[in-house]
Amino acid sequence: MPIGKDRELSSLPIHPDDHVLAMQFFLNVVGLVSQLETAILEIKSRLEVAICPTCQTPSTTIHDYDEPRLVRDLSLSGRKSYLRYHSRRFECAVCQQSFTERVEWLNFDSSYTKRFEEHVYQLCRKSTVQDVSAFLELGYDAVEGIFQRWAKKRRRRARRSPSAS
Ligand SMILES: [Zn+2]
Repeated sequence: MPIGKDRELSSLPIHPDDHVLAMQFFLNVVGLVSQLETAILEIKSRLEVAICPTCQTPSTTIHDYDEPRLVRDLSLSGRKSYLRYHSRRFECAVCQQSFTERVEWLNFDSSYTKRFEEHVYQLCRKSTVQDVSAFLELGYDAVEGIFQRWAKKRRRRARRSPSAS
């Protein structure tokens, strides 16, 4: 059962990274639903501007909000943790079109935060996909997909700057 919001938020130890996430990426945590095995943080963006992907013009006009979605994040006090996030659609005055904002902490259309994906990738370097899947309670294909994507990204980065590890 969902527990009350504000009181629960202060009584539940928050992972230090959540403050980092909140500060770096301009998010406000506006609520928390805590269940026995799952924590859901309701978040809102504090950024007031989004950049049009077509013409790069900044826009401050919010057109509407997409349906909220749950994005898996790093565990919170041993609980599986999700961010409940509405991406916002802005309107570009130049293109006269609306567009969904892109955020730094989440790849477009991914169901996982970037830091969660990186966590999966790091675990996979030391364990089997099967073990990571069981440990995180995340499907085998999802774990493997994340690992492959990050491994590819690392290889690309390594090619660009051969000195980096
Ligand atoms: Zn535009």
